Amino acid sequence: MDTRNVVIIGSGCAGHTAALYTARAKLNPLVFEGHEPGGQLSLTTLVENFPGFPEGIQGPELIANMRRQAERFGAEYKLAHVTAADLSRRPFRLQVGNDEIQTQTLIIASGASARWLGLPNEQALIGHGVSSCATCDGFFFSGKEITVIGGGDSAMEEALFLTRFATKVTVIHRREEFRASKIMLERAQKNEKIKFLTNTVVDDVYDSSQKEVTGLKLRHANNGQTWDFPTSAMFLGIGHVPNAKIFEGQLDMDQDGYLKTRDFVFTRVAGVFACGDVQDRRYRQAITAAGSGCMAALEVEKFLEDQAH
Ligand code: NAP
Repeated sequence: MDTRNVVIIGSGCAGHTAALYTARAKLNPLVFEGHEPGGQLSLTTLVENFPGFPEGIQGPELIANMRRQAERFGAEYKLAHVTAADLSRRPFRLQVGNDEIQTQTLIIASGASARWLGLPNEQALIGHGVSSCATCDGFFFSGKEITVIGGGDSAMEEALFLTRFATKVTVIHRREEFRASKIMLERAQKNEKIKFLTNTVVDDVYDSSQKEVTGLKLRHANNGQTWDFPTSAMFLGIGHVPNAKIFEGQLDMDQDGYLKTRDFVFTRVAGVFACGDVQDRRYRQAITAAGSGCMAALEVEKFLEDQAH
C-alpha cells in the first residue's frame, strides 16, 4: 500500500486552501471531498465579504474556483468520505469505503454542518430564502419581514444581526423557555423589530414552485392548531454539528464535539492538523476557514521537513 504525504478531509474553504498550499509545496495532496462537497459555501448564494471580489461572487462559483486553483498545482480529489481513522501510529490509516489509505500527515477540514429542520420543502429553498447563515444572506432581505428559528444564542444573535436589514424579525421557538443566555435573550426582547412566537413548530416552508420563500406552515406545540404565516425568509439558528465523530477518543474535543486545537491548527497527535469550522465555533467565516487551511498546510510542510532530518 503506498503512503501519501498528506491527506485532507473536507472540501470547503479550509480544505481547498490546504490543498492549494500543499500542492504548491509538491506534496501531492489527496482530498476526500466528504458528504457535503464544497461545504457551507456551496449552500449559499452571493458572497460579498470574501476579499478580492468587489461585486461579490456566488458561493458555489467561489468554491469551484478554489478547487480549480488547487487542481492546477496537482491536488487530487476523490468524491468519497473517510469513515474511520487510526491515528495511534504513523503512517495514519484511514478507511474510505472498502479501501484503506495510509498517510504521513492528516489535515482535518471536515467542517460543521448546519442543523436543518428536515421539512418537506426545506432543501429545495436553500439559497432562495432558507438559510443557515445570517451574515451571508441577511442583506438580501432588506426591507422585508423574516423569521429566525431556534431558542439558543445562535438564534438570538442571528435575529439581532438581521434587524439591520429586515423591517421585522420573528423568532419562532418550539418551547416557552429559552436556551439562550439571559443577556442575549434580553437584548433580543428589548429590540423593537424582534417579535417572538413560542410553543410554535414549523411544519413546512412555502413555496418551492415559486423558488422563493413566501411563508411558513406553523403548528402550536400544545393544542396542535395550524396556520400559515407569511414571511420572506427562514433563517435556521438551531445549531451546527461538527463533522468529527470518527475522531472520538483519539483527538481532544469540547462538549459539543468541536476539535480542540492549540496554536491555531495543532491537535494532540503530531502530524494531525485541524482547520476551518470543525475546530472553530467562534468565527465560522469563509475567510477565516481559508486562513486556517493555509496554516495547517504550512505546518504539514514543516512537519514533513523536520521528519526528513
Ligand atoms: P443551542 O444552544 O444548542 O440551541 C439550539 C436551539 O435550537 C435550542 O433552542 C433548540 O430548542 C433549538 N432546536 C434544536 N433543534 C431543533 C429542531 N429540530 N426544531 C426546532 N428547534 C430546534 O445551539 P446554538 O444556539 O447554536 O449555541 C451553541 C453554543 O454556542 C452555545 O453554547 C451558545 O452559548 C454558543 N453561542 C454563543 C454565542 C454568543 O455568546 N454570542 C452565539 C452563538 C452561539 P430546545 O431549546 O427546545 O432544545
